[in-house]
Amino acid sequence: MQTTRDIQSTRAAVAAARRTERRVGFVPTMGALHAAHLSLVKAARSECGYTVVSIFVNPTQFGPNEDFERYPRDVAADLAKCEQAGVDLVFLPPVAEMFASDAATTVHVATLTDTLCGPCRPGHFDGVTTIVTKLFNIVQPDSAYFGQKDAQQLAVIRRMVRDLDLPIEIVGCPTVREPDGLALSSRNAHLEPNERAQATSLHRALCAAREQIQGGQHDPDVVAQDMRRLIDAAGPARIDYIGVVDPESMQPIEHIAGAVLVALAVRIGQKRLIDNVLVDPSEQTS
Ligand code: AMP
Repeated sequence: MQTTRDIQSTRAAVAAARRTERRVGFVPTMGALHAAHLSLVKAARSECGYTVVSIFVNPTQFGPNEDFERYPRDVAADLAKCEQAGVDLVFLPPVAEMFASDAATTVHVATLTDTLCGPCRPGHFDGVTTIVTKLFNIVQPDSAYFGQKDAQQLAVIRRMVRDLDLPIEIVGCPTVREPDGLALSSRNAHLEPNERAQATSLHRALCAAREQIQGGQHDPDVVAQDMRRLIDAAGPARIDYIGVVDPESMQPIEHIAGAVLVALAVRIGQKRLIDNVLVDPSEQTS
């Protein structure tokens, strides 16, 4: 496994791999790697002969009062996990390599970023789409792998790739969960034991929503109210949002008739957790 820290040697390493005409797969991450990241690597390796992982805690996608400084970092452990998972190249750029001090260009995806996490985290998606565009231009992969856990991010990146004609296949991968349903997240490490127990209410609320919708509930407000009750009953939490939206446009649904994305963001203590489920009402509850 090779590691690079600058753009030029990353391009050279990928170009060398391309000479053997192998498909290049790319998994962008912010590090603190866990089993969900490795599931993306596995998906990439199953389809591509050469797999690149980037590890970059991108300052521009964190708000001024968010956890950029506190975000977990463990490069040595990350590299060991990548090596074990069969990654070919890890790109670990320092911030100065990615952003010139006078950088003046931002990639903005409109509309899809106006809902759910968008209003709660001003500038977040611009930070994501700008860094992902830059990473795509550096690595130039054939396909890139993103988790459904960040469903809005995945939809925004799909739209960006379509709108900008980027020649990259975006592959969405299923959310990886703990046995009790909590979606894996680098931020889970910061949960106190009581918060960790409380955090299971997110997935329980999403499962209850799925059951309601598949049981014939068409009103998203009723679904959201019941979810809110379930989360509030689990302990003190601040619900940033509960949304029932169109899975592609991320726009709120007024009457549930087809597939919807049910998504939420909840603060437990200082930790902000997000999760979602895709629900097809035509699939019956078992
Ligand atoms: P992050 O390092 O948190 O920026 O995540 C890097 C990639 O891993 C993104 O595409 C995330 O959607 C994905 N990811 C993070 N957690 C999960 C999860 N529990 N299940 C599936 N994908 C995930």
